[in-house]
Amino acid sequence: MAARAKTKKAKYVYFFGGGKSEGKAKMKQILGGKGANLAEMADLGLPVPAGFTLTTEACNEYYKLGKKKFFELIREEVEKTLAKLEKETGKTFGKGKNPLLLSVRSGAAVSMPGMMDTILNLGMNEETAGILIKRSGNERFVMDSYRRFIQMFGDVVMGVPHHDFEAELDEVKKKKRAKLDTDLSADDLKMVISRYKAVVKRDTGKDFPSDPMEQLFAGIDAVFGSWNNPRAIKYRQLNDIRGLLGTAVNVQAMVFGNSGNNSATGVAFTRDPSTGENRYFYGEYLINAQGEDVVAGIRTPQQITIKGSKEWAKSQRIREKDRKQQFPSLEETMPKVFKRLDRFRVRLEKHYLDMQDLEFTIENGKLYMLQTRNGKRTAAAAVKIATDLVKEGLITEKEAVLRVDPSSLDQLLHPVFIKAAEDKANKLTTGLPASPGAATGQVVFSAHEAELWAEMGKNVILCRTETSPEDIGGMAIAKGILTSRGGMTSHAAVVARGMGICCVAGAGDVEMDYKNKKLNVGKHSIAEGDWISLNGSTGGVYKDEVDTVEPKLAGPFGEIMALADKYRKLGVRTNADTPHDAAVAVKFGAEGIGLCRTEHMFFEGDRIVAFRKLILVAEEVKNLRRGLGLAEGEELKALSKRLEAPLSQYYEALDDLLPLQRSDFKGIFRALKGRPCTIRLLDPPLHEFLPHDAAGQKEMAKTMGVKPAQIKQLVESLHEFNPMLGHRGCRLGMTYPEVTEMQTRAICEAACAVKGSQPEIMVPLVGNVNELVHQKTIIQRTIAMVEKEKKKKLNVLIGTMIEVPRAAMTADEIAKEAQFFSFGTNDLTQMGCGFSRDDAAKFLGEYVANGVYEYDPFQVLDQTGVGRMVETAVKLGRKSRRGLKLGICGEHGGEPRSIAFCHKVGLNYVSCSPYRVPIARLAAAHAVLSK
Ligand code: ADP
Ligand code: MG
Ligand code: MG
Repeated sequence: MAARAKTKKAKYVYFFGGGKSEGKAKMKQILGGKGANLAEMADLGLPVPAGFTLTTEACNEYYKLGKKKFFELIREEVEKTLAKLEKETGKTFGKGKNPLLLSVRSGAAVSMPGMMDTILNLGMNEETAGILIKRSGNERFVMDSYRRFIQMFGDVVMGVPHHDFEAELDEVKKKKRAKLDTDLSADDLKMVISRYKAVVKRDTGKDFPSDPMEQLFAGIDAVFGSWNNPRAIKYRQLNDIRGLLGTAVNVQAMVFGNSGNNSATGVAFTRDPSTGENRYFYGEYLINAQGEDVVAGIRTPQQITIKGSKEWAKSQRIREKDRKQQFPSLEETMPKVFKRLDRFRVRLEKHYLDMQDLEFTIENGKLYMLQTRNGKRTAAAAVKIATDLVKEGLITEKEAVLRVDPSSLDQLLHPVFIKAAEDKANKLTTGLPASPGAATGQVVFSAHEAELWAEMGKNVILCRTETSPEDIGGMAIAKGILTSRGGMTSHAAVVARGMGICCVAGAGDVEMDYKNKKLNVGKHSIAEGDWISLNGSTGGVYKDEVDTVEPKLAGPFGEIMALADKYRKLGVRTNADTPHDAAVAVKFGAEGIGLCRTEHMFFEGDRIVAFRKLILVAEEVKNLRRGLGLAEGEELKALSKRLEAPLSQYYEALDDLLPLQRSDFKGIFRALKGRPCTIRLLDPPLHEFLPHDAAGQKEMAKTMGVKPAQIKQLVESLHEFNPMLGHRGCRLGMTYPEVTEMQTRAICEAACAVKGSQPEIMVPLVGNVNELVHQKTIIQRTIAMVEKEKKKKLNVLIGTMIEVPRAAMTADEIAKEAQFFSFGTNDLTQMGCGFSRDDAAKFLGEYVANGVYEYDPFQVLDQTGVGRMVETAVKLGRKSRRGLKLGICGEHGGEPRSIAFCHKVGLNYVSCSPYRVPIARLAAAHAVLSK
């Protein structure tokens, strides 16, 4: 075996063309997308210039062996295949009577537009140029090809800065009073060529190589080398492209779109890539041009179809007469070629069963296909195309569901910037894309100001270093939120996503100067009232207003959602705390609430006053109850006397809160129209409800009728070194059972008032079954009391969050007491991995970059560790209680990879913020359908 493996050399070069390609479309991993599709197109009988592909495995060897050894390894194979190519084309490379010129094109398995390089017209030198002039009788064309070659090779291989060449070209153009490249004559171009050669010599100290073979290997070397240039690495990071071996290199016979006015080059999409419409053939072309000229914007490209051309002219305010003369469509200038190209369009779509992005070149009236690939598209186009292809009978419903990337739906649910407007806007900085959508408004620096301004009918962007629960009111009415600190799970990010408000978080370049009411970023200073714009989908922060458009939810979007619902097994609920959010989520297809956080209900308006009254005496009640605070010799009687005053304030506060909470729950139950609602009892530590700044404390003291010092002392006494592991969750209910009782009563009374309500009471942060037993006793007792008072039978489920590792590991015991579990994977990740949610952003970047964790575990569930706890809890829980209902309510509940995991381990539902509900529905269907 070993001997055979040694003698049997791996294949690194694949020929394509002439109907006998060695590769096919399925071989993208080793041929790259471009190479695989060139082979496939050639075998379909389409006119593809012949060539060969050096595989991605070759690229991998290039890096393993080093350049010298690598070229020893492949030289023979390349030369052999080149000979085959010469035979196929009837030309000889870089010499002879009929010289062959080549393009050297990069192309990985995943397309990375504009990231790596292409060299055209390789094999050109003084000698080949001379022969080509004789053969073609077109000196200008040959000189144009030659100067392009020097420019591309000089840039890509020899590292001559692009603008050094451009400067020379511009100078010659100026001298010759030429406006466009095409205005230059053969002699002018000769002048450009000699100047280019001088630039190469000046910049590199070397002569421009004339030997074709040397040019070819240097070209291959440069393309493989470009795989790991910083630009390409960054691109792969940003687009989460992993696990590729490298790029392939395609070496292909040149065809010339620059050989005169019967030649052209162009790019086209088989359907509109921004809307998905199939109204006409979308594409552009340029006569007498080569390669990238169409996209490079050096001349105004013309439309392919008459219809497209007329629409374009209208948008440019060009009169029909001028259009016909200056910008005619391909359909008009070369009708036969157009018809052929249009047939290829249909053919390729039928073959690839998807919208294609094409490159073509016309040489002396003959059409050549140079590339096809599944075209990149907006989310709107993806949805439209997928549903259309089903109707056209090309793909199945299941395939259509898989064609749409769940995460991309974000684009469809929020207002978005008009692209042209955003492109023109003045970018200040980039932060984290914390909550998608687009927002434009006037800058304010406090939640309070935000509310005041909003009342006056203004659109505001709330700018904070970071936000805290007391900012909720201002956040809710802001058009957008910008923070300079915090990560993707920071308070601002989580709350904004929940509310569907655009948010850019952690924009580290921004310095918030609250005192002077301005923010500084780079050389800009933005004052209160100035306009800025945020792109929550990209993290972009812009100066001034940028125009937006509203999304549409009907049509193809609705069709894809219906298909997703047909195939998914997981239920989808939402995390919502207000009737408004609940209603939005229901509109997006939520089947209930999976997490209703009650703490937000304590913040608004007068509630905070009532709740602060309670907190003011809570500590005292607690201490006196424990008999702490008693002076020596004091007796029980004295104790109860001392308790009287604080207790009465404590109960008063609870009495104030009860009706407010009740009406909140009523509103939510109504919005849910009979759908289930999991309500979590009070969770955050009490100090989060108190003001931490002197001004706020003074104000609170005034409202409470006490001295500011008392408030300050209260805040200090509630201070915790590690609040996330402190006095919160069910630990509050253990100390203050009356709060649990009040909340349960509010829920039950609301449920009595709204027909069809299905409340599920959830105890947070349970780590030990006895905590749950304690709370459950209070809850059950209260339910029974309300039932008796209202003379109604209620069906209230009682369950718990699984968010403490100990709870996950003892889930069998807990399931005996709980009717449902909801995995709080934010806390479970925090405690499971030992990463503070609030501080981990500082170092998690390196963790992900170094591959310690594949993804930020707060964004994508860490399946190996945290996931194993979930899985264990599922198994243990169901063992003790067969019908145990299982859900997830962490941020992961709206993240496609994590949703696939939830499906796999058999949860009943996922719960996520309202605006992620459609994403979760689609991701749940993907989990079933993708293998
Ligand atoms: P990219 O991946 O950036 O699109 P390509 O390798 O597709 O780069 O090439 C860039 C341009 O050069 C395209 O417009 C393509 O059509 C053109 N081109 C590539 N190879 C040839 C060739 N053999 N003959 C004519 N034009 C070519
Ligand atoms: Mg291309
Ligand atoms: Mg939690």
